[in-house]
Amino acid sequence: RILSANEIRRHFIDYFKSTDHNYIRSSPVRPFSDPTLEFVNAGMNQFKNVFLGLRKPPALRATNSQKCIRIGGKHNDLDVVGHDTYHHTFFEMLGNWSFGNYFKKEACEMAWKLITLPPYSLPAEKLYVTYFGGDAKLGLEPDLETRDIWRSIGVSPERILPFGLKENFWEMGLTGPCGPCTEIHYDHAGTALRPHLVNKDQSDLTELWNIVFIQYNREEDGNLTSLQQHFVDTGMGFERLVAILHGKSSNYDSDLFSPLFGEIEKICKIQAYRGKFGAEDELGLDTNYRILADHARMATVAIADNIFPYQSNGLRRVVRKTFRVADSLLPGKSLKLVTALSKAVRSSLESAYPEIGNNGKQVDCVLQDEHQLWMQISSSTKKDWNSLVMKDGNLEKLADVVSPGLIAALKELEKSNFPDGRISDDLALTLYDRYGIDVPLIEELATIKGASVDVRSVEKRIGEMKSANKKALNDSAALLTAQYSIRDSVRLPPTDDSPKYEYVRSENG
Ligand code: ATP
Ligand code: MG
Ligand code: MG
Ligand code: MG
Repeated sequence: RILSANEIRRHFIDYFKSTDHNYIRSSPVRPFSDPTLEFVNAGMNQFKNVFLGLRKPPALRATNSQKCIRIGGKHNDLDVVGHDTYHHTFFEMLGNWSFGNYFKKEACEMAWKLITLPPYSLPAEKLYVTYFGGDAKLGLEPDLETRDIWRSIGVSPERILPFGLKENFWEMGLTGPCGPCTEIHYDHAGTALRPHLVNKDQSDLTELWNIVFIQYNREEDGNLTSLQQHFVDTGMGFERLVAILHGKSSNYDSDLFSPLFGEIEKICKIQAYRGKFGAEDELGLDTNYRILADHARMATVAIADNIFPYQSNGLRRVVRKTFRVADSLLPGKSLKLVTALSKAVRSSLESAYPEIGNNGKQVDCVLQDEHQLWMQISSSTKKDWNSLVMKDGNLEKLADVVSPGLIAALKELEKSNFPDGRISDDLALTLYDRYGIDVPLIEELATIKGASVDVRSVEKRIGEMKSANKKALNDSAALLTAQYSIRDSVRLPPTDDSPKYEYVRSENG
């Protein structure tokens, strides 16, 4: 019998409850009080201060399923979403934690049992495990202990692979708790040995579960300091697990997404989702299906957790794109489509996360407001661009709902007189980079101004800029790496007046 997504989630939680883990609810996707993060990007975020020794652990062992969003910062998957089978903007991370209780051996043993025994029953011949291969420059030893643990569990040696810092040293962001990790990967294609394809962005050989041994904190100056205690922090991608257990190699073919696709097909009366990617998806229809379903999930979850587009450029970007894609499938009726999708998202997730159902009204209202604004900007400004900007009042009056970036961008555009009837690549790049205006909106603005814009060339420039930024980041990381020193830190134990943790424990996990 095939387990439903809800049963799969429940079994994970029940398994860890049966091994003395306390169930702890997902925190909201808005971090409690962490200026280093815009969205919660992993299950461990809500325990950050426990790892740092600033708070008492909520229990010795914990388990949960955490709502996560990865559209910015160190973990940014926005650009690949819709184009591959296994990254989403919003996803659920199943996790278990040891707060100074068990360590490597128990963590690996419990994980292996869970996934290879019924009801999950993943075949060992389709699994690989990775471990940290060390880093000479940093003076970090290879984690042979973990390698040997996997051997003792019975994993065949050709399926136990070492990787470096990038793959097997997990960090939540530029700062924060971190450590070497060991991961479990799954080969959708079959049982043939293909170790060279692990961690190579293959859509049929993907990472499933990351088990991190939190031992360090990355400080603001880039140094690693040792934590007083050692912790286990694991995260398994729920949508990836569901796809595997449904016998599908794409997350989008599982019952988490098919109801959403059904809704799109029904409302738009268009061709059904066929699961094509890249060049095989000639018109980009399947990609649009995926983006729309993914983004509707992200927007619904974020707004239900009290994140609003006017406060979050990231959310606004995603919501606008949702409307734009919806409008391309069902011209003039994007709100109807997105609202229907959001309702379908709620009914699929509310049993696990009641707040998503309870705040449905809020989600509808915010989507409606944001839609109105989007329409105003992209269509009514078309009619009356000059009065809007020149009167200087209209947009400022909307200042609390229009992003300051857009107002500034409109002014920037207003200043330019487009000598050759086109918006130069430089100006477009400024609009994109400084003011956060997407290329399609730049195109719309250009149309309004009766000017043209060379979309291809602008996109190329954006690509170049992104890789230059990435390189700069890598260079500075390399520089930091060269300077890392691992020094012991002395941390104060929590005192009586340390803030009490606000975890909500619940029995209905
Ligand atoms: P990947 O290498 O596939 O991008 P990751 O190494 O960035 O994954 P981790 O930070 O180790 O991911 O997070 C733990 C688990 O969460 C992963 O093993 C994966 O199953 C899942 N996961 C990570 N990012 C996403 C995403 N964008 N969408 C869905 N699941 C994800
Ligand atoms: Mg990733
Ligand atoms: Mg990875
Ligand atoms: Mg990983």
